[in-house]
Amino acid sequence: MGKDKKIRVRFAPSPTGYLHIGGARTALFNYVFAKKHNGDFLLRIEDTDTERSKPEFTEQIIKSLEWLGIKHNGEIVFQSKRFDVYKNYAEKLLKEGKAYRCFCTKEEIEERKKNNPAWKYDRKCLNLSEAEIKEKLEKGIPHTIRLKLPETEIKFFDHIRGEMRFHSKDFEDFIIVRSNGIPIYQFTVVIDDYEMGITHVIRGEDHLSNTPKQIFIYKALGFEIPEFAHIPLILGPDKKRLSKRHGATGVEEYKKDGFLPEALVNFIALLGWSPGDDREILSIDEIIKEFSLERINKSPAVFDYKKALWLNGKYIAMKAAEKLLPLIEEIFRENGIELNSHPQKKEIVELLKTRVKTLNEFYQFGYYFFKEPENYDEKGIKKYFKKENSKEYLKSLIKIIEKTEPFTEEKLEEVLRKEAEDMGISAAKLIHPFRLAITGYTVSPGIFETAVLIGKENCLKRVKKALDFLDKNE
Ligand code: GLU
Repeated sequence: MGKDKKIRVRFAPSPTGYLHIGGARTALFNYVFAKKHNGDFLLRIEDTDTERSKPEFTEQIIKSLEWLGIKHNGEIVFQSKRFDVYKNYAEKLLKEGKAYRCFCTKEEIEERKKNNPAWKYDRKCLNLSEAEIKEKLEKGIPHTIRLKLPETEIKFFDHIRGEMRFHSKDFEDFIIVRSNGIPIYQFTVVIDDYEMGITHVIRGEDHLSNTPKQIFIYKALGFEIPEFAHIPLILGPDKKRLSKRHGATGVEEYKKDGFLPEALVNFIALLGWSPGDDREILSIDEIIKEFSLERINKSPAVFDYKKALWLNGKYIAMKAAEKLLPLIEEIFRENGIELNSHPQKKEIVELLKTRVKTLNEFYQFGYYFFKEPENYDEKGIKKYFKKENSKEYLKSLIKIIEKTEPFTEEKLEEVLRKEAEDMGISAAKLIHPFRLAITGYTVSPGIFETAVLIGKENCLKRVKKALDFLDKNE
């Protein structure tokens, strides 16, 4: 490839399923590679398989990419709208004698292949005369189109795996257009990559075995061959191919589970690539700056859902409360809470953001700032509500809250510590049941800060309610 040629890459999903982590990684690597070289990143929907392709998958793939911030240049190319183009190229190859019509039926081929797994198509139809072909066509006998492979060795350089060599004798004259007129994937990919001006094909390693076939097609069509990079597979921590068992695999699931797109992008970028140092938190701009195909590992990437959660937690903690608020509003609304009407929403989010790993956890671990706890932690009940002095402690807490004026963090702490001292107990003896009563949990942000944000009246109500609970559960 000439040095001055603009880099153009593409992501070419088949809309036969949702966008999963593996696909998102392919898209991301293409995207950052394009950005790094001021090139274009194109999107092509490979929907020639009309039975398995579904418009809702296309829509979901596009939405997921948008959510991740992986923006494509130009119009989306749909293969299903390009059957005429593929047909023209197939005809061109037929005319030039680089492909031929094959009238062998599946059954005939099965018969000839029987008991010989190494059997390759025997070129029975290669030398049919014009007249024979004409006659069969007139009779409407279905046929496929096969590529006529020349005797040749092919080499290509893969940016990740190095030099790859293949020989045509290990391949058969494979079908490029099926008997129903639908071109096969290998054929459409080559034509589209050529017509879209793709300079680098970056895709999953599962396509490595397709590349030699595609190179035969490039050569037959006289197209310039792009460069290739095949990205290694993603495995679960048990070294088995990534699947649902290993945690969420669909991009949409991450969104639903309360991931920030920038955290997921960071996580995905590190699946098989690293910046060359031990940095683990990288913004998209940093990823673009550091990215190179050569830095992609040859060995499979290992997927660790816990790491995704950890990273997400870090990104949430780094984000300003004002930016987080609009992202969690809906989660609270679904649970009957109007976050916006709370005067101290910002302080609450600020307090919680270093403790949550997902956006959903803001509600899960922070709903008690907005409404009474729905229940008390089971272990907490045993430890702090069912002890000999539990009632006495709760009663003291009521006194403490009433006495604290103004109801500030410092004052509340001072009054509580003083009361504990007077009672001859440690402050913790009061703090634990206090936390359980006002939050329902045994852990929370700093208890005094939490109590103040919940408010004096609410704290009082909740401690009284806990006392009621104790009375009823004696
Ligand atoms: N449509 C293929 C897939 O979804 C990708 C083809 C390619 O990248 O060449 O696996």
